[in-house]
Amino acid sequence: MKATQFTLTTLKEMPSDAEIISHQLLIKGGFIRKLASGIYSWMPLGLRVLRKVENIVREEMDRSGAQELLMPVTQPGELWEESGRWQLYDEGLLLKFKDRHNRDFCLGPTHEEVITDIARAELRSHKQLPVNYYQIQTKFRDETRPRFGVLRAREFIMKDAYSFHASSACLQDTFEVMHATYERILNRMTLDFRAVDADSGSIGGSASTEFHVLADSGEDLIAFGAKGQYAANIELAEALMPAEQNEPLQPMRDVPTPDQKTIADVVSFLDIDITKTVKTLIVRGKDTPLVALVLRGDHTLNPLKAAKAGLIEEPVTFATEADIVSELGCKPGSIGPVELKCPVIVDRAASVIKNFTCGANQDHLHFVNVNWVRDAAPGTVADLRNIEIGDPAPNDDGSIEIRRGIEVGHIFQLGNKYSAPMKATVLDTEGKALTMLMGCYGIGVSRLVGAAIEQNHDDKGIIWPASIAPYQVILIPINAHKSEAVQTTADSLYTQLTAAGIEVLLDDRDQLRPGAKFADAELLGFPHRIVIGDRALAEGAVEYTDRATGTTEAWPIEAVVQRLLDFLKAPT
Ligand code: ATP
Ligand code: MG
Repeated sequence: MKATQFTLTTLKEMPSDAEIISHQLLIKGGFIRKLASGIYSWMPLGLRVLRKVENIVREEMDRSGAQELLMPVTQPGELWEESGRWQLYDEGLLLKFKDRHNRDFCLGPTHEEVITDIARAELRSHKQLPVNYYQIQTKFRDETRPRFGVLRAREFIMKDAYSFHASSACLQDTFEVMHATYERILNRMTLDFRAVDADSGSIGGSASTEFHVLADSGEDLIAFGAKGQYAANIELAEALMPAEQNEPLQPMRDVPTPDQKTIADVVSFLDIDITKTVKTLIVRGKDTPLVALVLRGDHTLNPLKAAKAGLIEEPVTFATEADIVSELGCKPGSIGPVELKCPVIVDRAASVIKNFTCGANQDHLHFVNVNWVRDAAPGTVADLRNIEIGDPAPNDDGSIEIRRGIEVGHIFQLGNKYSAPMKATVLDTEGKALTMLMGCYGIGVSRLVGAAIEQNHDDKGIIWPASIAPYQVILIPINAHKSEAVQTTADSLYTQLTAAGIEVLLDDRDQLRPGAKFADAELLGFPHRIVIGDRALAEGAVEYTDRATGTTEAWPIEAVVQRLLDFLKAPT
C-alpha cells in the first residue's frame, strides 16, 4: 500500500481527553476515531490490526474444533424474560428499546439466551454432543463509566463461544481445551499474560478462569503465589484462616476517644498497633435491617466475599448513618461487636486477635482488651477481606504478590444456569429428556488491541507484536522527488516486497520532511523500517531499523527481501 493512497491521519499532539497510553496512541495514530462516549470507528489502519487479532482467534477456535456462526445483535426481550435476566442483568448494562409493534428488544451484551434458543431447537440427541459454537461479533453494554478507549467501550467486538454437553466430565474437557486455546491465542500475540481463578459475576455458573494481560494500567488486581502455582483475581483470592493468637487475656476497659472517627484516628490517638484493632462496617441485611461485618483495622472489605457469606443484601450496600444511629444507638465511628444489636459476621483474621480495641457502641468511646467469646459473640466467621501482599497464598504457594491485569478473556462452566430455565434438553441413551450442560468462553477482540499497546510501547509510540502489526514493513524514501535513484529503488523494493507477500507501506508522501515520516513510522509501530536515501544508495545499501530494539544497520539492496522474509518466517 502506498501512503498517498491510504488514509493516514496521525495527530501532532497527544489527545488531552485520553487517560491511558493505548487510548492516546490509538487516537494519535489515527487507528480509531470516537463517535460517541465508548463508541469508536476503526479507521483503515486500525481495522488491519483488529482483523489480525480476529484471524488469530478464528484460526485457533477452528483448530479447537469449534464451529463458527453469527447471531443477531438485536435480541428479543422475551428470551431474556425466559432466562430471568431481563430485569437482573448487571444494573443498566442492557440497552433496551421497543420496535414499532411495541415489542421489547435489547442490543446483545452477550449471547447465552440466543444460543440456548438455537441449541434447544437444533439439538435433539445426546449423540450430537458435545458442540461448541462461536462467533466474532459486536456487543453493546451501556457501561456506567466507558473509558480507556477500546479497553472499556460501550460497543466492542468479542469472540464468544458456547458449548453444550451431556455430562460434566465432557464439559470439563471442553473447558480445558478452551483454556489451552486461549493460551495459544495470547502466545501468538506474544503477550505476557496469566490465567487466574475468577468470580463468575452475573453470567453465573461455577468454575471460571480469567486471562489477564499484565499491565500497570489494568483495572483488575491479580494475586499470585510466589512459588508460581496459585493465581486468582483479588475479587476471589482466598485469605486463609490465621493461627489463633496466644497471649493472656487482659481485663477489658473503656477509654474516651473524643471526636476520633476513623480507625486511623483512633490508632494514633491511643497510640496502639492497628493490627490489634477491629473495625465494624454496617451493611443492609437480607432478613434483618442491618448486619455488622467485623474486620481487622488495617484490612479492606471484599464485597463479593461478603455477599457470599449470606445474611446480607446483594449487592452489598452500606447502611446510612441515620439507620445506624436509630438501630444501634451511636454513630458509625464508635460501632463495635460488644453487645451489638444486630447479626455479626467476623473476618477470619479479626476472629483470632486477642486483646483488641474496638468501638463501644457509644459516641466518643472505645473498648480496649476486648476478647471474643468472653466479651463479644463471634457470630459467623468468614473470609471477608481482600488478600494483601505478603499474606500466605492458598495451596502452600509461598507468599502473595499482587500485580495489575487487563482482563482479555474469561471462560466459564455455566452448568444448567440457562439450559434449565430455557428447557434446552436432548434425549439421553434411554430416550429420556436430559438438560444440557453449558460452558461459555469470551475473549475481547477489540480490547486485545488496546491491551497489546499497554504492554508494547515506548515514548515514541506503539511497538506492535509482529503477528498483529498493521503492516510488517514501512519503506521510507528520502527526498524521492529530487533523486531518481531513490525513487527507482523505492519503487523496485516496493514491488519486490509486495510480490513476496510481505505487507509493506510505502511512505511516498513527497510533501513530508524525513523527520515527520520517521516520527509517524515510530508512532504507528511497524516492526521493520527501511530507509532509502542517496548516501547509503551510493554504497548499494539501504538503512534497516528494528522498531522494538532501535537497532539500525546498513543492508545491501539485493538482500532486503530475503532478510525480511527470514524475520517474518521466524516463529512468534
Ligand atoms: P469486565 O469485568 O472488564 O467488565 P466482564 O467480566 O464483564 O468484563 P465478560 O462478560 O467476561 O466481561 O466478557 C468477555 C470479554 O469481553 C472480557 O474478558 C473482555 O475482554 C471483553 N469485554 C467485556 N466488557 C468489555 C468492554 N466494555 N469493552 C471492551 N471489551 C470488553
Ligand atoms: Mg469477565
